[in-house]
Amino acid sequence: MAKLYFYYASMNAGKSSTLLQADFNYRERGMRTMVWSARLDTRGEGMVRSRIGLEADAHLYDPETDLWQAIRAAHDLQPLDCVLIDEAQFLTRDQVWQCARLADEAGMPVVCYGLRTDFQGELFPGSAALLGIADKLVELKGVCHCGRKATMNLRVDETGHAVSAGEQTEIGGNERYVALCRKHFTSALAG
Ligand SMILES: [Zn+2]
Repeated sequence: MAKLYFYYASMNAGKSSTLLQADFNYRERGMRTMVWSARLDTRGEGMVRSRIGLEADAHLYDPETDLWQAIRAAHDLQPLDCVLIDEAQFLTRDQVWQCARLADEAGMPVVCYGLRTDFQGELFPGSAALLGIADKLVELKGVCHCGRKATMNLRVDETGHAVSAGEQTEIGGNERYVALCRKHFTSALAG
């Protein structure tokens, strides 16, 4: 039985590096993979890049993309051994179910990597659906400046001050977020 996986973490915990390492391992064994990322990612069009220098070409999805159709069509042309999805917090609930269908009906492992929560500690839609229905949940651990596990993503403004209100997704890049433990997240917001 192919499985649907969700690797979740705070910002800068190495999600993209882990995805790219998994992709490399599959390819090294002569297997075929398909890598996807969210179109609103500002780190470059059609690429997954990690902070430690690995990168790979990626197909881009937006909320309108039918992942079942797109991936199934590619699989029919040339069988895929694994699908890897970065920025999976941005998947819609429907797309998460499409990923589940790829695992269940097409027998394809689908491995999703994403943030658990936003800068207000709320689940992203894709993360909520994945936490709900994925076969396997794996936490990738980031580290707060105090040494504890970072589970929260503090949004900061241009001057480095904590931001408590705004849109769930703000295009601005990784430098606008700081991964913290809950205690330091709370104290940063308290000012
Ligand atoms: Zn801390």
